[in-house]
Amino acid sequence: MKIHEYQGKEILRRFGIPTPRGIPVFSVDEAVKAAEALGGPVWVVKAQIHAGGRGKGGGVKLGKSIAEVRELADQILGMQLVTHQTGPQGQKVRRLLIEEGADIKKELYVGIVVDRTTQRVVLMASSEGGMDIEEVAAKTPDKIHKVFVDPGKGLTGADADGVARRIGIPEGSIAEARALLQGLYRAFDQTDASLVEINPLILTGDGRVIALDAKLNFDDNALFRHADIVEMRDLDEEDPAEIEASKFDLSYISLDGNIGCLVNGAGLAMATMDVIKLYGGEPANFLDVGGGATAEKVTEAFKIMLKNPGLKAILVNIFGGIMKCDTIANGVIAAAREVQLKVPLVVRMKGTNEDLGRKILAESGLPIISADNMSNAAEKVVAAAKGTRQP
Ligand code: ADP
Ligand code: MG
Repeated sequence: MKIHEYQGKEILRRFGIPTPRGIPVFSVDEAVKAAEALGGPVWVVKAQIHAGGRGKGGGVKLGKSIAEVRELADQILGMQLVTHQTGPQGQKVRRLLIEEGADIKKELYVGIVVDRTTQRVVLMASSEGGMDIEEVAAKTPDKIHKVFVDPGKGLTGADADGVARRIGIPEGSIAEARALLQGLYRAFDQTDASLVEINPLILTGDGRVIALDAKLNFDDNALFRHADIVEMRDLDEEDPAEIEASKFDLSYISLDGNIGCLVNGAGLAMATMDVIKLYGGEPANFLDVGGGATAEKVTEAFKIMLKNPGLKAILVNIFGGIMKCDTIANGVIAAAREVQLKVPLVVRMKGTNEDLGRKILAESGLPIISADNMSNAAEKVVAAAKGTRQP
């Protein structure tokens, strides 16, 4: 789960991390009131969307008077903000953060993630923070310093000091940087985050270290123990199909292609997308209905896939283990009738009760194309999506 910058900063403050004073707002009038409450002389008007790169996209602007804050808020609120993380369609701005302008002497970078290779939490930091960190990572990776954290000890003072020095924090500010880095690790650990990133972390003219941006992502599997974080969820920022799927406990991810996939098991779902691509097709979604899906769940999954206007064909690929093929067959038929299926449907089923499943499909009278192995199924669904006759 993702949250907005202003919510991330609220959490960071609980762990003692200094941030500029700021107020989230939903309207231009509120923006003006917030600027008045904060006091000048400089304010920053920041679009709140669940994507980075807002500065480059025109979603972070400096105002030097209340009148200018009003103008900027009016301009940014409601805009379709396009950044390298939103895709070409952009994301509509519905919230702003009005923040006091900071005196930036140097922009640094610090982030914490789980490193899959070492299976450890890694803190990464760089002296080259700001809006081009991706370029720094690609072109000069030696400028990114890493510390692997022992979960038993947490981020030690010595490690924190070492990183702080390597990214150019002056001696007089090391103690402050240490407290910030250790607070950041505790925030990551205690909120079950999957990512905590501050870019930029700044050094101010008077030697203070402050988090100017905040990006926090959380592990969905741990959200049950963080009711306060779940409350921060902003459904406007999420894909409607994915929200609908989550209500039925379906793992669904929207993709750009035109072939819908309904599969049981995440591994099989990944392999199904691969084989579709191998035959020249593009999957419209990832969908894992889970091991013990009911006919109702399958029907809901169909409805979600069919809301995509670009859908040209569907491939159902089931391995019947715990899941029985006849259950899936009944679900497919119920769904096809309920939603008046208008795109070709290819079904491949293997495993428990596969003969019964095939018989149910064959006797349903629905124009279902059956396939007996994965490559054959992929070939057929790709041909169907292209509108050509199947091989
Ligand atoms: P994004 O990463 O989405 O572009 P940031 O919050 O990092 O958004 O803001 C982009 C840039 O805007 C920062 O690198 C910084 O230079 C400037 N900026 C952001 N907040 C402030 C602030 N409160 N005071 C001064 N400058 C700011
Ligand atoms: Mg940033």
